[in-house]
Amino acid sequence: MPTYCDHARVQVIAHDDNGEFVECLDCREIFESSELDGSERKEDLSDA
Ligand SMILES: [Zn+2]
Repeated sequence: MPTYCDHARVQVIAHDDNGEFVECLDCREIFESSELDGSERKEDLSDA
């Protein structure tokens, strides 16, 4: 099993006022779909 998952394959399992809840088909983790959009690992070099 990989220790890190990209959550590349997800399916929507529920809806909420804040958005959609999705489940990763690979690691079975559940999170908000908005979390995927905003929490991607970014190499932000704004500190330059
Ligand atoms: Zn995953």
